Amino acid sequence: MDHFLYRDGQLYAEDVPVAEIAAKVSTPVYIYSTATLTRHFRLFDEALDGLPHVVCYAMKAASNQAILKTLAQLGAGMDVVSGGEYARAKAAGVPGDRIVFSGVGKTRAEMRAALEGGIRQFNVESEPEMQALSEVASEMGVIAPIAVRVNPDVDAKTHAKIATGKSENKFGIPISRASEVYAMAAALPGLEVVGIDVHIGSQLTDLEPYRLAFTKVGELVDRLRAEGHDIRRLDLGGGLGIPYTRGNEAPPLPKEYGNLVKEVLGDKGCEIEIEPGRLVAGNAGILVSEVIYLKQGEGRDFLILDAAMNDLIRPAMYEAHHDIVPVVEPAPGAEQAPYDVVGPVCESGDTFAKQRNLTALRPGDLVAFRSAGAYGAVMSSEYNTRPLVPEVLVKDDHFAVIRERPSFEEIINRDTLPEWL
Ligand SMILES: *Cc1c(COP(=O)(O)O)cnc(C)c1O
Repeated sequence: MDHFLYRDGQLYAEDVPVAEIAAKVSTPVYIYSTATLTRHFRLFDEALDGLPHVVCYAMKAASNQAILKTLAQLGAGMDVVSGGEYARAKAAGVPGDRIVFSGVGKTRAEMRAALEGGIRQFNVESEPEMQALSEVASEMGVIAPIAVRVNPDVDAKTHAKIATGKSENKFGIPISRASEVYAMAAALPGLEVVGIDVHIGSQLTDLEPYRLAFTKVGELVDRLRAEGHDIRRLDLGGGLGIPYTRGNEAPPLPKEYGNLVKEVLGDKGCEIEIEPGRLVAGNAGILVSEVIYLKQGEGRDFLILDAAMNDLIRPAMYEAHHDIVPVVEPAPGAEQAPYDVVGPVCESGDTFAKQRNLTALRPGDLVAFRSAGAYGAVMSSEYNTRPLVPEVLVKDDHFAVIRERPSFEEIINRDTLPEWL
């Protein structure tokens, strides 16, 4: 249930016709649904009912201030992976004690800013990082709360570019070395160990890798406690997948994930932290684009859109599938034909779909990429000097532009010329 549904032959975002937004803002444009964001956040929150927990939305999935504020008002914490994201969380009114700082390459400046502004915990990923954080905290006369991200060496069975829990990945420390690393953390003057962190990857469509990872984490809790560490929080990361193709088998629900957490780790007496990103924002956003040309090629027809890989890079980067639907609902049983759906950027990689069956479309028609809310707008760029794609947030029967499309003048004026030109 994602609140982008046909009504009277038109695609709606909640109670607003998508075509109305496209007419007002022009295309391409991302449109998000407040009701869907809210629903998905609550599903996670409720899935952990009965356990002390905090849901820290992984804002790298979609970090517009309006989205963050919507979630913050529901009580969401935030998982941030850069100083910029930390600043965004604070600007959205998230208190420091609900912000978790993840990422393999935190700089000293980022550590300092987070310690100054307030932080729930740093999820540290290496010994050199622990050393640096301890030094920064000591210089400031404070203690930095940490969890160590352990790499449980399980196969998340997801796309190689978003798998993070195998030993060959750059993330975390091998779980086999945890005792040694926790002992070092405990000995560093600027750190306080508060928990364990694990995140095995993204777009997981099966609970089994989680079961394996959580089981290893449970064993580690017992071992580290026996070694004298006060393990009181477990950060279980994010990664639960969404159904990108309608009609295919759906990934596990947050409720089932929550039940697994309770079953495997519920008796540890720990506060649970989870960091969902994609499942909160993914199906809460669509990318709307207009057909520019229909080009007949040799043996295949190309549907050329005004959206391109700079607006939505997932197909080019991850071979990702997005359902593409016309904004005007096709007649029941309307005939379909295969198209290669492409953008205007000068790269063959600027292909959204090959030989995709779609009902007949003409120049000027609007289409929507479904499930584009996560890792969509945040990964957009101005490649080919195509203005940064705008974003719109819908709530019930109204909508607001939450990121404007910049003018060419604004884009050009961001460059500055050296005095010799
Ligand atoms: C990316 C990331 C997440 C969110 O992953 P999703 O698949 O979007 O749920 C959570 N935690 C960490 C550490 C991440 O890097």
